[in-house]
Amino acid sequence: MRAIRRFTVRPVLPVALAALGELAGNLRWSWHPETQDVFAAVDPDLWESTGRDPVKLLGAVSRSRFEELAADAAFLETLRGARAGLEAYLTNDRWFQKKMSDGPRAIGYFSPEFGIAAVLPQYSGGLGILAGDHLKAASDLGVPIIGVGLLYRHGYFKQAFSREGWQQETYPVLDPDGLPISLLREEDGSRATITIAMPGGPDLIARIWVASVGRVPLLLLDTDVEGNPDHYVDVTDRLYGGNSEHRLRQELLLGVGGVRALRAYSRITGAPAPEVFHTNEGHAGFLGLERIRELTVAADGPGLDFETALEVGRASTVFTTHTPVPAGIDRFPRTLVEQYFSEGGATPGVPLDRILGLGAEDYDNGDASVFNMAVMGFRLAQRANGVSVLHGEVSRGMFNGLWPAFDEAEVPIGSITNGVHAPSWVAREVFALAEGQGADPDSDDAEAYWDAVDKIPSGDIWATKRQLRERLVVDARKRLARSCEKRGAAKAELGWIETALDPDVLTIGFARRAASYKRLTLMLRDPERLKRLLLDPERPVQLIMAGKAHPADDGGKKLIQAIVQLADDPEVRHRIAYLPNYDIAMAQPLYPGCDVWLNNPLRPYEACGTSGMKAALNGGLNLSILDGWWDEWYDGNNGWAIPSADGVDDADHRDDLEAAALYDLIEKEVAPRFYDLDAEGVPTRWIEMVRHTLKSLGPKVLATRMVRDYVRQLYTPAAGNARLLNSDYHGAAELAVWKKRVKGGWPAVRVEHVESSGVGDAPEVGATMSVRAFVALGDLAPADVEVQLVHGKINSEDELVQTSVSPLTAVESYEGGRHRFDGDVVLEQGGAFGYTVRVVPCNDLLTSPAELGVVALA
Ligand SMILES: *Cc1c(COP(=O)(O)O)cnc(C)c1O
Repeated sequence: MRAIRRFTVRPVLPVALAALGELAGNLRWSWHPETQDVFAAVDPDLWESTGRDPVKLLGAVSRSRFEELAADAAFLETLRGARAGLEAYLTNDRWFQKKMSDGPRAIGYFSPEFGIAAVLPQYSGGLGILAGDHLKAASDLGVPIIGVGLLYRHGYFKQAFSREGWQQETYPVLDPDGLPISLLREEDGSRATITIAMPGGPDLIARIWVASVGRVPLLLLDTDVEGNPDHYVDVTDRLYGGNSEHRLRQELLLGVGGVRALRAYSRITGAPAPEVFHTNEGHAGFLGLERIRELTVAADGPGLDFETALEVGRASTVFTTHTPVPAGIDRFPRTLVEQYFSEGGATPGVPLDRILGLGAEDYDNGDASVFNMAVMGFRLAQRANGVSVLHGEVSRGMFNGLWPAFDEAEVPIGSITNGVHAPSWVAREVFALAEGQGADPDSDDAEAYWDAVDKIPSGDIWATKRQLRERLVVDARKRLARSCEKRGAAKAELGWIETALDPDVLTIGFARRAASYKRLTLMLRDPERLKRLLLDPERPVQLIMAGKAHPADDGGKKLIQAIVQLADDPEVRHRIAYLPNYDIAMAQPLYPGCDVWLNNPLRPYEACGTSGMKAALNGGLNLSILDGWWDEWYDGNNGWAIPSADGVDDADHRDDLEAAALYDLIEKEVAPRFYDLDAEGVPTRWIEMVRHTLKSLGPKVLATRMVRDYVRQLYTPAAGNARLLNSDYHGAAELAVWKKRVKGGWPAVRVEHVESSGVGDAPEVGATMSVRAFVALGDLAPADVEVQLVHGKINSEDELVQTSVSPLTAVESYEGGRHRFDGDVVLEQGGAFGYTVRVVPCNDLLTSPAELGVVALA
């Protein structure tokens, strides 16, 4: 029988246990083991059987058990302690309060997905996990972020396998009343909503849920609301499903609706309005259009003109791009955007032609029929970044078309390397090892924390790693048994699973989305060789793999099937497992349990990658292609680099080369080191690498390092610029007028003539070269520009490489808008040297000379 209605009955806690409700209502429990202990003590069996979900646990506990606990003095004491701990965590001054007094009052952080905890499955993969870690680290640091996202009724799909190993997707309904979120309500108790005008229909209505992520509120919009027609209710049905129009509606809701939700939240709770808006990947980019609407035509706004509003919006917006894979960039048919933003559309009063211009691929090889969300992201944000040094570089090349007058190196896209939230991902036992040697968990000094690793006896590290490996093996066997049953195996056929995998065998982990560039099956390139590695009588290896393919990606599903079928083979099934439904709950025991974390993407498509960071923090050694973060932080001793055959164009041949290198490394380096035991049975050379990994990577891969970088390098400067422009919007208006004047006057800007002196025919290192440049500026003044001497090495084509820039000084003006600029440069290095002179726009409020896209070269 199907129910005609469903709802969740909320438990009534005895007054003495009210604090349990508070602890369950803030997701901080999910990265705080001591709070988890409190829930476990409520009922250890229920805690496990509810999947360690406090809301479900409290809903399932019997009244008699509650009464028992309410009379248990020791439990009440523990509960009081946990509640006081949470209270202190939420209110004490933290890093931001102590160190960043000029930081932004608040930051709005927009993302299409958030992976906070297993109990709130609103993520598909790395992007969401990163957003979750960003919020959690911001909370730990006291950074005043407000997250903005969508609440998907089905989240992302759950993965299972058919008998043949084909991926099956299911979409269980998530009941919001059973989730750790609460509805944002107006003062009179009615639910708070936002609306968005839709073409040819009634307004779209959304309600707003609030998840408490430690100190950080996360607003989640949801269209499952009375008053919405069915096709609107479905806007927040699932993550990354449906056609372009469906996605566009989701992104409208996230961007435009998200800003409106933030305003409602501030109005109701008194929370400060964000001074900075962070667009985590292109999907949320429409937020910039809503802000322009607020600043231009909104009845209660300042009534700015479009250009001024654009400057205000840009100054206070940060855009992070997350992928160099072209298919990962969000693009809509231009006509669809036209339809949703025409007069009376989502942002009424913002001119359609200006909107279309922001997302236009109006550069070489661009497609005039599409609207590109990444391109709009860059145009609406004065500060933009990639997510590793290498990805920053790749992004500058990829988006050079937006700043065609400038060399790749000067494209204004920087980088901040991702990080991971240690308390969420590091096994308690690993922290205990460090803290047993005096490491201070409350210290802000991560280097000092991980230095304690030197003092841990090798035998303790080895014993702990074995314990974590065993925990993973036990968890994997349970998952295998459930999966085999689902695939139609009889109970009697499952006996082998009891001894599948081995807690004493070198364990290699590989889990990630089945996107083709991640090359899920590279390990299977030579199945016989792989089998020999797995079954080696002295130095066996076991592989634990997992990952979902996008439901529409049959190619990815085929890759998964190939591995599942191999893992079904009785000859090797005790050494290789493909576990279904990779998610946070699986990931948490997986990273600590692996000795080696394998990553073999096609370089340079892995923008950063974070799973290897989580493995490293648990003392796992990375075995990876030099891509993303590994390219930056591999130091020769903290793991292994798989040589990548960059430049080999034949994809098959490249895979063969890289797979062979991978097998060689495992056979000749990794396994021998792991199994090389000393008299005490400890592989000392392995443990050396584990220590070095923890010490060299521990302080770097942290999400707290990442969030500090964002605060210092992007959020605070953005807030500073925004304040300069915003006080009465005068600054922004002036900047807009200045930009227009400079762009208008630019055609007259020319470098007419350059003279140099001080170096004869045979200059020597240390000589000083003096340069005079005669420049025509037309109607522009010398203060509007910077005249630069660009100098450095030159290659065989006379192209300048590794350039430095020295500004020249205005010394004299002549009739007709001509000026002389002088400067000196010392020749620091021998070899081929070259220089040129160029003129770029100059204004304190620009973040890069490339911002206006114009330059005049000698
Ligand atoms: C960390 C993590 C990811 C992202 O890992 P990548 O290395 O970026 O592929 C994806 N899913 C889950 C569940 C994770 O924990």
